[in-house]
Amino acid sequence: MAKRDFYDILGLGKGASQEEIKKSYRKLAIQFHPDKNPDNPEAEAKFKEAAEAYEVLSNTEKRQKYDQFGHAGMGAGGGRGGFGGGGMNMEDIFDQFGDIFGGGFGGFGGGRSSGGGGRQRVFKGSNLRVRVKLSLEEIASGVEKKLKLKRLVPADGISFKTCSTCQGSGQTYRVTNTILGQMRAAATCPACNGLGKIIDKKPSGADEHGMIRKEETVSVKIPAGVEDGMQLKVNGKGNAGPMDGVNGDLIVVIEELDHETLKRDGNNIHYDLYISMPDAVLGTKVEIPTVAGKARIKLDEGTQSGKILRLRNKGLPSLEGYGTGDLMVHISVWTPKNISDEQRRYFEIMKEDSNFSPQPGRGEKSFFDKVKEMFS
Ligand SMILES: [Zn+2]
Repeated sequence: MAKRDFYDILGLGKGASQEEIKKSYRKLAIQFHPDKNPDNPEAEAKFKEAAEAYEVLSNTEKRQKYDQFGHAGMGAGGGRGGFGGGGMNMEDIFDQFGDIFGGGFGGFGGGRSSGGGGRQRVFKGSNLRVRVKLSLEEIASGVEKKLKLKRLVPADGISFKTCSTCQGSGQTYRVTNTILGQMRAAATCPACNGLGKIIDKKPSGADEHGMIRKEETVSVKIPAGVEDGMQLKVNGKGNAGPMDGVNGDLIVVIEELDHETLKRDGNNIHYDLYISMPDAVLGTKVEIPTVAGKARIKLDEGTQSGKILRLRNKGLPSLEGYGTGDLMVHISVWTPKNISDEQRRYFEIMKEDSNFSPQPGRGEKSFFDKVKEMFS
């Protein structure tokens, strides 16, 4: 049977670059792979043919020889298997795949002869969840919290040894003979569950993976502007991974405590301020609470009930860092309920004075106008 030209097999010209050779072979290997073409001798033959062509053309020395002498130059000493004769077996072909597809090429299992590392499974520890209660003041400034956790960690004195069933590779192989040579099918090692190691010494009190629960204090920085129900992830602070695995994460769930006097609305804060009738008429200075301590504000003479004072940047910072909300002070004039006879008399005097009659519209905005303005 006449052998086809290696360049023809890969569909390339004599001047093809290494990159083109690799690309072309990768395409053919996928197209004619035995896993994709079960019980198809023609595909298997093409698969092997392409592998042979690649084996030669990807190697500078062999390629030179082939360019000069053709298939004749590939005879004795032409590398493993000898291309003039038996050709490559399946294991050789699969061995190439590490170079062609990189270590991550999955799905074909088997071929690689050594354990090679990187195939072992690794356990990830489970995540821990913890709720953190925060005051509005803490949310405004951001806060560092020390959280007590009961984490699963490896017990002191635990040691591991290499699994003797799989020699640490995490996989066992079943070898079958086919007309194309030996085929190796990989399976997860049943002795170690694919970890490649088993527990050597386990301290008493540890669980099946040699873990114990230990109380630890973890410091967590909570940024300003968080909201009730938000979850922050702290990488690697969850339960340790069993069998020397990777740590899980700590999930911090934010719980916002109600404030005695301040109400949150997004990044804005609302505060209801009651003032006396005389203060409304004469004007005054009052101290009000904010998320960052007390603030003094001045009320003008003739302050109307329902007025809303907007204190810029006295609200909460946005979590994303886009500015700070405002503090809205909603003013209500306090009307006394039980008054003395004397007090009744001067209210009756005021009642006679037309200056005490409501006169809206003279520069006074209605409550609804004010609310509209506030949200515009
Ligand atoms: Zn094993």
